[in-house]
Amino acid sequence: MTRVPQLNRTQQQMIRRLVLSLGVLLTSQLGAQTSAPGYSPQAADAQRAAEADVIARPAPATASEHSRFLSSQPHMAGTPAQARTRDYVISQMKSWGLETEVRAYKIWMPHPITTRVWRVSPDPIELNLKEGPIAEDTTSVAYPQVIAFNGYGAAGDVSGEVVYVNYGLIEDYAQLDSMGISVKGKIAIARYGRSFRGIKAREAEKHGALGLLIYSDPADDGYVRGDVYPKGPMRPPHGIQRGSVMNPNGDPSTPGYGSTANAKRIRESEMEIPRIPVLPISYGNATELLRGLGGNGIPQPWQGGLPFRYHVGPGPVQARIAVTTDATTNPYKEIWDTFGVIRGSQFPNEIVMIGGHRDAWGPGAADNVSGTVSVLEAARAIADQAKAGRRPKRTIVFATWDAEEWGLIGSTEFVEDDSLRLSRDAVAYLNQDDVAQGPNFSGGGSPSLRALLRDVAKEVPDPSREGSVYEVWRKRSNLTADSLEPVMGDPGGGSDFAGFYNHLGIPIVDWGFGGPQGIYHSAYDSYHWMSKFGDPGFEYHATAARIGAGMLLRIANADILPYDYVEFARTMRRFGAQVDRAVADKHWQVSTSGLSAAIGRMEDAAVAFNTARDRALTAQLSTPKLRQINAALLQVERQLTRPQGLSTRPWFRNLIYASDENNGYATMVLPSVNEAIRLGNESVVQREVADLVTHFDAATRALQNATALTK
Ligand SMILES: [Zn+2]
Repeated sequence: MTRVPQLNRTQQQMIRRLVLSLGVLLTSQLGAQTSAPGYSPQAADAQRAAEADVIARPAPATASEHSRFLSSQPHMAGTPAQARTRDYVISQMKSWGLETEVRAYKIWMPHPITTRVWRVSPDPIELNLKEGPIAEDTTSVAYPQVIAFNGYGAAGDVSGEVVYVNYGLIEDYAQLDSMGISVKGKIAIARYGRSFRGIKAREAEKHGALGLLIYSDPADDGYVRGDVYPKGPMRPPHGIQRGSVMNPNGDPSTPGYGSTANAKRIRESEMEIPRIPVLPISYGNATELLRGLGGNGIPQPWQGGLPFRYHVGPGPVQARIAVTTDATTNPYKEIWDTFGVIRGSQFPNEIVMIGGHRDAWGPGAADNVSGTVSVLEAARAIADQAKAGRRPKRTIVFATWDAEEWGLIGSTEFVEDDSLRLSRDAVAYLNQDDVAQGPNFSGGGSPSLRALLRDVAKEVPDPSREGSVYEVWRKRSNLTADSLEPVMGDPGGGSDFAGFYNHLGIPIVDWGFGGPQGIYHSAYDSYHWMSKFGDPGFEYHATAARIGAGMLLRIANADILPYDYVEFARTMRRFGAQVDRAVADKHWQVSTSGLSAAIGRMEDAAVAFNTARDRALTAQLSTPKLRQINAALLQVERQLTRPQGLSTRPWFRNLIYASDENNGYATMVLPSVNEAIRLGNESVVQREVADLVTHFDAATRALQNATALTK
């Protein structure tokens, strides 16, 4: 899926997968940086040397070669081109000496056969939905482009008056209501941005629209932002953003369980997918529909970047949308996740994973060949070091996921298929999605792994030659005080970490480099675009991989797992205070003091654990003892999930962060409580606060168990 075009391109990098949290951390709150948490002082020295070695191995030249091969053809999930990327990744990993595995799943994933849009009146024309070849971009010339469509939009043939619905958000329909305008029986046209496109489809359908067109407004990622491709990196007039419009994660025919060979499939009529046709169009085509709209004037914020005054309609412009798919003839497609494995020497059952999706809507040089390349180069670095005689203590798994773009499908099916083993043994999951398309670093994830990411970013040189990645990141963040750290993102929606984090409570972390771009989900997300604008020297690809290799090694080799539950609890304290304020604003009788007290207990337990850990590491602990301590530590974030999930969405079991169900990309913190607050039910809020307290206390007990085991 990936990026939401937004005003601030740097921040926009993260808004899809990791929405920026509002708070900032004080370094003084985090305690002094020890040499490497989870390592004895002597082990820390050797580890730093091993990290320096592995960080030096990823190379721009090999990154560029991988990118050139993987982005040389459009490779949508369910097509032969995806078998080709599968085979490439497997053969590379084999050649470096990794054990490899492919897991195939059969997915209900109808492909489009034809997609057409007409302006029926005035002046009937059929819109040209092709992005068209650009001579200097050879991929756009040599291969047929992926048809313009939105994954999981319905087949159908519908006509009606056009209504402009701004971003198609819940509040936009409320605004239309107040203007006395309905989309019922009409064709809605919405601009991309501000929400996941599946939410736009859901709201249009809910309000009775017959069909939905979603277009890329030039104010978002087109000429208003900069020169357009091929002169500049931004979206040209005929550029199209494809993408899925399904809201749940995973194969819609197997909700909550793996799409294995004999899995029970639900009927299409039971699936949570749109029932109206939805198509993406360019701003060139949108002009043909929007310019002639009459009716009411718009609220000023609804004006986009096209060179005329926008109106909402309805009509007099009328449009027709026609979509045919293979849903009734050949809806099931095979997809392939790939795995490369290095067995751990001391704790082989404990697994550290890194992954990125391997499918795309076109050549996908940025989304997500860049992430795949980062995974590959990290794998090569660690495999080469292992061959040179230094094997990691824990097992490291390098994954590439298929069909992420359709709804995080490859990773979700894997996580559902293998949930018992992952729940028990997965130490951390590192995600790589759109990681090298500019110079601006951003990162985030579970607060338990943020300190580690900051620390490894200090060891990796920034391609700008102006210091480490961390130093350049700090400089760009314009922090107002030396004691502040750059803001990091919270896990929201929209990439492959969701199965690990939201479903199973496995700590995750994610990073990448962003910049201005208007080729998202387009035929021009190509090697040529990448070489000309995104990352001409492929240094940011290599740098993302260096961070990955360093992170993997740090986690894999620690005697005691290097989670930071002090930072975690202090982050939670801020969220607890937000709940206090929200409840106070409602003048409810609900008591929230229990929640802040429980978070305080977790913080105390985390501080005590860190002291006990550092003391214990000065002695020689046996492997079985370390295993016990780590098993206790693994339970901390697992305890912050619940089997029945959120009442709105049972698949989302994590009680710390979820994607906002009314936005899809944005994060909701403490979702069980904050969703209840939004619904306005005081007794449910009281019950959810009490439930969350029991979960924080269970996490605290896990920390106390770990502490006791160090004695
Ligand atoms: Zn992506």
